Amino acid sequence: MTPIILPAVRKIIHIDMDAFYASVEQRDYPEYRGKPLVVGGLPEGRGGVVATASYEARKFGIRSAMPSKQALQLCPHALFVRPRFDVYKEVSQHIREIFKRYTDLIEPLSLDEAYLDVTQDKQNIGSALEIAKLIKQAIKEELNLTASAGVSVNKFVAKIASDMDKPDGLKFIGPSSIEVFMETLPVEKFHGVGKVTAQKMMKMGLYTGADLKKLREDELVKYFGKVGRFYYQIVRGIDDRPVQPSRETKSVGAEDTFARDLLTFEEMMNELERISMLVYERLERKKLRGRTITLKIKYSNFKQITRSLSLPEPVGEASMIIDTVEKLLTEAFAEGKPVRLLGVSLSNFHEQTVQKNPPGIAGQLSLF
Ligand SMILES: [Mg+2]
Repeated sequence: MTPIILPAVRKIIHIDMDAFYASVEQRDYPEYRGKPLVVGGLPEGRGGVVATASYEARKFGIRSAMPSKQALQLCPHALFVRPRFDVYKEVSQHIREIFKRYTDLIEPLSLDEAYLDVTQDKQNIGSALEIAKLIKQAIKEELNLTASAGVSVNKFVAKIASDMDKPDGLKFIGPSSIEVFMETLPVEKFHGVGKVTAQKMMKMGLYTGADLKKLREDELVKYFGKVGRFYYQIVRGIDDRPVQPSRETKSVGAEDTFARDLLTFEEMMNELERISMLVYERLERKKLRGRTITLKIKYSNFKQITRSLSLPEPVGEASMIIDTVEKLLTEAFAEGKPVRLLGVSLSNFHEQTVQKNPPGIAGQLSLF
């Protein structure tokens, strides 16, 4: 008899600490509790940015990555404190210890966020939802902090789910409800779809997963580039990306091959702006800040060149990528040579970002 092979359904948990830095500060300093608190750059300093705002501060519209000056305008009585990364790192290690009681398949995304694969858990609990509950409970009891958890069969849905009931949330989206869930999801909630792409989608009349689902794979690729293939799969609830316990990112990039060769500088810059935005979105997602920008050009005769430029500071804005790419293209542009592919990548990440655990700290640090 042929054995019946069941589809491998994975059990994935995404854990995300609630207002992490701010919650740690409110935990350690009772005078901050119940108050609008901003952890990050101070508003009187130059270029200070909000790293994390407490929930009380968010009520005033204060958000991460917002200039601290703007945060102060939104809420003049907000308290501003500098981050204590050594403390956050310690807490993060403790959280990891808690995860390790259940699985070794842990992929940290930053100090306060991780994917866990608990398809096989160390304690034979079997239920991912139950494990998520136990983890949340341990974080509360041992660290006096709250986390939100999303539980599903893949990373994409687990991550969206963890954000749905915040703070102190626990959301389970099982295999039978994934399709409906994805169909009703607004495009701007798709993580990986940045603001620019979301706006482009909405201009095209694509508001939800169901709208995206009406498009064929080649159409999605035509409109959005390679990532279109990912959208095609994800609206059908398919995401096979494994939970990767150690990630060492050396470079992050995107490239596109064009259906028709490009000839003018303007055409190329148009495409490069879009590709640069995509790279920026990927960097944001990985919380990475790189210093070296590389432009790749492949001509219609398949000859390829790359040009790189290293900036004194890690890239913190999409416009920095676009400006640098424009410089590189100005130098490399050759009149009358048709171009079939353009690519942009970032490398030379802050040394702390390339260390294995926890990645992302430099991304946060460079906010200041
Ligand atoms: Mg968080």
